[in-house]
Amino acid sequence: MNAQTYLQAAKTCELHIHLGGSLFTEDLLDLVRDHYQQIDWSFFVDNFAKAYGIRPDPIALFAEAINSPSLEKLKAHYVYGAEDGGSFERFQAKFNMAICVYRHWWAQHGGQEEIWRRIIARHKKEGLRYIEYRSLAPYDHSNPVDFIEFHKRSARVIHEACNDNFEARYLISLPRWAPSECYQLVQRLLDDNEDLISTIVGLDFCHFEEGFPPDSTRAFFQRLRRDNELRPGRALDVAYHVGEVYFDKSLESAVRWCHEAAELGAIRLGHCTALGLDPATAAARQAEAHEREPASERLAQIRYDLNHREALEKFGVPIDVKALEKERQHFIGSPGDEFVQRAYDSERLESIRHRQDYVLSRLAELDVVIETCPTSNLRIGAVPDAQAHPVHRFLASEVKLAIGADDPGIFDCTLADEVDWVHRHSDMDADALHARLGDPYHYRLGRRRAR
Ligand SMILES: [Zn+2]
Repeated sequence: MNAQTYLQAAKTCELHIHLGGSLFTEDLLDLVRDHYQQIDWSFFVDNFAKAYGIRPDPIALFAEAINSPSLEKLKAHYVYGAEDGGSFERFQAKFNMAICVYRHWWAQHGGQEEIWRRIIARHKKEGLRYIEYRSLAPYDHSNPVDFIEFHKRSARVIHEACNDNFEARYLISLPRWAPSECYQLVQRLLDDNEDLISTIVGLDFCHFEEGFPPDSTRAFFQRLRRDNELRPGRALDVAYHVGEVYFDKSLESAVRWCHEAAELGAIRLGHCTALGLDPATAAARQAEAHEREPASERLAQIRYDLNHREALEKFGVPIDVKALEKERQHFIGSPGDEFVQRAYDSERLESIRHRQDYVLSRLAELDVVIETCPTSNLRIGAVPDAQAHPVHRFLASEVKLAIGADDPGIFDCTLADEVDWVHRHSDMDADALHARLGDPYHYRLGRRRAR
């Protein structure tokens, strides 16, 4: 087997992809060719104007794209590129073009199936052999019927697309504000649709993480563990986006969040930039970045440091128990909305590098996989450049690692492009990279299910 064939395993097995971000410009154009004049584009136009200061005319854009051989102008309004400057607001503004199409389809064509089918057809054409799609419904538990219906239809399209050469699974993304409530609805869906049990293998946490500490999902994870033990044949695994965008807290807390998500029971973690981006680079991304955090986070950090003292010290993180106890006392009786500000010096930055080492080694022990998405991290994850990308640190560690495309349609970038990017920017040749990555298929959710 030659090196090119080796990397095929990584290029044909996709573990981190969102259905909603998978529609390429060409497919979007194809879908709306006969409808673009009837679609309500105001959500896209208004938010685009806010983010870019220009009011686009989507009808003119689509008319031009249909009549000209070049998609360049349409792509400039949809594809989120390096030149967009790493702002989530701008990313969302472009994403909204697809959302307007989804909304139109749901309202006028009875569901999203046709869109999902085109996305899957593209992945088959790309040569993907195993793929785990995830999706966040536009509904939560306040709309239980629609929540279940959305995921049922998505899972069924995926189920029906499978054949001898193409295996696909579905992860239901739970809204971070109501994981337990929505998890109950997922169980109801499985009760009523036994034919979908083999397709729905897991749950995901995605979208904004700021404001949603992993610890707030403790009750959900307890319940899930109990249910999985009771019914091992339909056990659900959890993938969890964490440490991706974390400007609301200190670097220590961001590292801790990744660790907590794994200890709670997630078996794959999305991004974990906080574990791989050098702390000096992270802190230099914005003025006073990561210096301020809510007192609740500082308190949680103190508790963590005291609980993990022995292991942290072994990794070279100094823990001053007396100082931490004293600091903890200071918070007793203080208002809950208080903030703590602490500047970084070289000693603190060095201790954060050791914290990263500790958590990476702990993830390796727990057999937890990091899903890293190069383009996504560079364009929206505030990773400043290729050399700073966390993937290099991950590759040098023992942690299991899978490469994902995240939102390939909006980034205009396939999984094979992402794997090539890692190959190009790491100092490993294809053989070494293949040996390091292994076959991501071994990391699929649902693999431990009793049969
Ligand atoms: Zn993602």
